[in-house]
Amino acid sequence: MALSVAIIGAGPAAFYTADALLERIPVIAIDLIERLATPYGLIRAGVAPDHQTTKQVTRKFEPVGLDQSVRFYGNVEVGRDLDIADLRAAYDAVVLAVGSPLDRALGIPGEQRSGVYGASAFVGWYNGHPDFRDLDPLIAPRVVVVGNGNVALDVARVLVKTPAELAASDMPEYAAAAIGRAAVEQVTILGRRGPADVKFSPAELREVAALADCAPVIDQGVLAEAVSQAAHGKGPGKVLGILKDLAAADPAARRKRLQFAFHGAPLEILGDETVTGLRIGRTKVEDGRAVPTGETMDLPCGMVVAAIGYRASPIDGVPFDATRGLFPNEDGRIESGLYAVGWAKRGPTGVIASNRPDGVRCAEQIAADFPGSDVNAGRRPGRTMLERLLLERGARPVTFDDWQRIDAAEVARGRHPAPRRKFTTLEEMLAVLADPAGPPGKNASEG
Ligand code: NAP
Repeated sequence: MALSVAIIGAGPAAFYTADALLERIPVIAIDLIERLATPYGLIRAGVAPDHQTTKQVTRKFEPVGLDQSVRFYGNVEVGRDLDIADLRAAYDAVVLAVGSPLDRALGIPGEQRSGVYGASAFVGWYNGHPDFRDLDPLIAPRVVVVGNGNVALDVARVLVKTPAELAASDMPEYAAAAIGRAAVEQVTILGRRGPADVKFSPAELREVAALADCAPVIDQGVLAEAVSQAAHGKGPGKVLGILKDLAAADPAARRKRLQFAFHGAPLEILGDETVTGLRIGRTKVEDGRAVPTGETMDLPCGMVVAAIGYRASPIDGVPFDATRGLFPNEDGRIESGLYAVGWAKRGPTGVIASNRPDGVRCAEQIAADFPGSDVNAGRRPGRTMLERLLLERGARPVTFDDWQRIDAAEVARGRHPAPRRKFTTLEEMLAVLADPAGPPGKNASEG
């Protein structure tokens, strides 16, 4: 009997793990159990819609999804259709590849006001994630994005791009239309530390210079101080160099502004029902930490997006570290037969390819924990039991072949230069599958 492995989640960490398992264990049955009807996790719902090249990594994952030893069970939710005890009883090994889907809260007064959003929700909305497609955010002419990471840059860039700049993206029409209607004038990206402490990647930051109708604004004094410290060996030189170039750029005829504001820690969201501003406490950086100076100031705005990091969602029956927002583990091992990879293991850091070593490590551990697994070591029923449970519980799993039909239908209805027009509800996707005239999958014989 094949070694049976259930991977919960179908994002990059899940696919890298499945790929590494296939390489190491010849007789294996791997099931990817995913709550959405679509695979690829953050590649579909997190990577910015104008970063289509990044999304092409799915081409590497597709052969894994099509492998005879791998099955995709989309629209199957742990906690709704199954619990972790079911999976641990059914499979030799269970791997959590569930990512960090929840927003970290700012933890300041006024956070409940309308117009305040976590990045996970806002990014999910403009990427057509079914959970957030109805968010209907209040996008205002002035927006503050809190955080100095790549997610903050993504959010800001998407808000200031012109319709023409978004035309080749896969942003759903409702989001592109709402952003266009909002007539954003200024987005402030707020860092609680200084320019030398940002977590922007050089490539992401450089894109700011190329924006068609938006000019960067950076306080020259703050930047000059950071640059002089960097000259003494502190701080990321490359990123500072790009910030310097941006600060020197001529705003010319560009109508919108992307302001980089530093040394400001959020203290309170101002307003009544709706946000009217963000009160910040000025900071200075001491030993790498933001320390309050006691000075405050108010940034007027009609929308705040907190892009300050994510955390995992706890799973009943699995130990959880609420402070770090992940499943405590030793190099990926949680308990005997239970493993974590990707952000569920490490927390929300790194790019898509950073998940590959986690997958390799996890596959090595599973191979070591089930000696002889290279020949014939499976002990548990695996997908036979999974399919029985799903049938009993009235679940409607979406297979990889189903996904390929959904994918083909999305591509077919995309209008050039958009690569696709996403379906954003489960009902729309199931309707594609119910339509006998719909496009076939690439592997129509797969169960
Ligand atoms: P991140 O890189 O960890 O940045 C989080 C930012 O939030 C930091 O600037 C942090 O400041 C700030 N922050 C945290 N708590 C705060 C608070 N209470 N008040 C004010 N600021 C606060 O996280 P991310 O932007 O969410 O990105 C997650 C990961 O995905 C990163 O590894 C990122 O590189 C990756 N990603 C990559 C791409 C790409 O390559 N194109 C795109 C998107 C995301 P401190 O530094 O002071 O803590």
